[in-house]
Amino acid sequence: MRLFAAVLPPASATAELTEHAARLRELPGADGLRWTARESWHFTLAFLAEVAAETLPELSERMERAARRTPAFPLSLHGGGRFGERALWAGAAGDVAALRLLAARADAAARKAGVPMEEHRAYRPHLTLARARGGGVDLRPYVAALGSFSGTPWTVAELALVRSNLPRSGVAGERPRYEVVGRWELDASRAAFPGG
Ligand code: ATP
Ligand code: MG
Repeated sequence: MRLFAAVLPPASATAELTEHAARLRELPGADGLRWTARESWHFTLAFLAEVAAETLPELSERMERAARRTPAFPLSLHGGGRFGERALWAGAAGDVAALRLLAARADAAARKAGVPMEEHRAYRPHLTLARARGGGVDLRPYVAALGSFSGTPWTVAELALVRSNLPRSGVAGERPRYEVVGRWELDASRAAFPGG
């Protein structure tokens, strides 16, 4: 099964971004982009690709440990960016260092469970909002419009392991695109709360 580890923003946060993103849909070329569904929004921590079902128990144990060792931390949706002409994303603010640490630990957990992880480039927290179908859409005005967006912080209290079901030709909506197969609590006793 195709798996990735992620932080899932709460509905309160995705509601704010949905409201802000409505104005993005009015920019030139918006219909030429594939917009991601709000229910699917996430920050990928580590991409595991294909994992055998028999690896799941050890993987879960390792992810549980990675989560438990990491204090809960504040995060918010903030601004945005793009990967060339391919993808538009919302960014994160708050304890991004803690997010990075959690990403590194999820990566290490997968490795220890025997998942052959790619050498990853610098970790760039991003929540994919839209993908270009074939290019040709200038994403810069979208990034600019996201620049004024700053969401309410929440406390990241969980690490999620998500199964990604690639769409099968002709059978749209047969299975959910993403399914959470495991979630583990971060260490709430050492949580740093936002706003304080
Ligand atoms: P689609 O591939 O259908 O456009 P998707 O990219 O959301 O949708 P997946 O390809 O299963 O679905 O990826 C799941 C998550 O993992 C996404 O956040 C994606 O950006 C990320 N991801 C996918 N491949 C990689 C990779 N090689 N390295 C890092 N992250 C990846
Ligand atoms: Mg993909």
